[in-house]
Amino acid sequence: GPIIRIQDVTKTYSADKSTLHALKNVSLDINKGDIYGIIGMSGAGKSTLVRCLNFLETPTSGTVTVGGKDLSKLSEKELRKTRMNIAMIFQHFNLLMQRNVIDNICFPLTIAGMGKKEARKRAEELLQIVGLEDKAKVYPSQLSGGQKQRVAIARALANNPEILLCDEATSALDPQTTKSILALLKDINAKYGITIIIITHEMSVVQEICSHVAILDNGSLAESGRVIDIFSSP
Ligand code: ADP
Ligand code: ADP
Repeated sequence: GPIIRIQDVTKTYSADKSTLHALKNVSLDINKGDIYGIIGMSGAGKSTLVRCLNFLETPTSGTVTVGGKDLSKLSEKELRKTRMNIAMIFQHFNLLMQRNVIDNICFPLTIAGMGKKEARKRAEELLQIVGLEDKAKVYPSQLSGGQKQRVAIARALANNPEILLCDEATSALDPQTTKSILALLKDINAKYGITIIIITHEMSVVQEICSHVAILDNGSLAESGRVIDIFSSP
């Protein structure tokens, strides 16, 4: 079955005396190895969907299943395990500014219990994957936006997640840097079979790398399916 199944998810917030539907009966299946784009304008419900996926938020109704497991039925321990399986990257990179590149990448490894030496070795491998092997000792403030995102990708991949959730990951980057980051993500998807979810407000990002897309409009799913079916010219 799908690695992620979102079934009839509704999320409401109460605002003043009215009810705001951030998500309305959204259903979608994401299969292993997909590069799945979730696109919509500001306020469409993308962040709410992300928070339901990584269980920062519980849907008002409906179910979210990851790896065949209903998130609402998991124990704390299982939840932690599932969370580690979904790595994230963000618009503003979220690197630790007081630590150099290699220490940023070692951080999730040592938290997961890996020894210092082994973590360093793994971090060096990861730096090679993202093409920054010469930046190990550099601090994030000395890197360009694209390089910072490469470090964030290396850190995200550290514990071998099955799913990489990219939340507006190229929104702070210029078009050329965006292209190079998308190419890296595509490469990682092809090499390691990691399922990639791309949250974006930019159609060009979806067209550049996504195999599938879901279009959110005002909390509802306007369309979903293969990119070639949805965007092909008649
Ligand atoms: P997007 O990420 O696509 O911009 P969001 O998921 O952030 O959309 O927001 C969807 C709608 O839900 C918006 O109208 C937003 O104002 C509202 N919303 C999001 N989070 C909350 C919250 N915690 N409380 C109240 N309303 C919220
Ligand atoms: P992003 O830009 O990443 O989508 P937002 O600025 O929309 O993030 O939301 C940041 C935080 O504010 C989230 O925790 C969200 O739940 C909350 N939030 C968003 N919209 C509203 C709203 N209309 N009322 C209350 N909280 C909101």
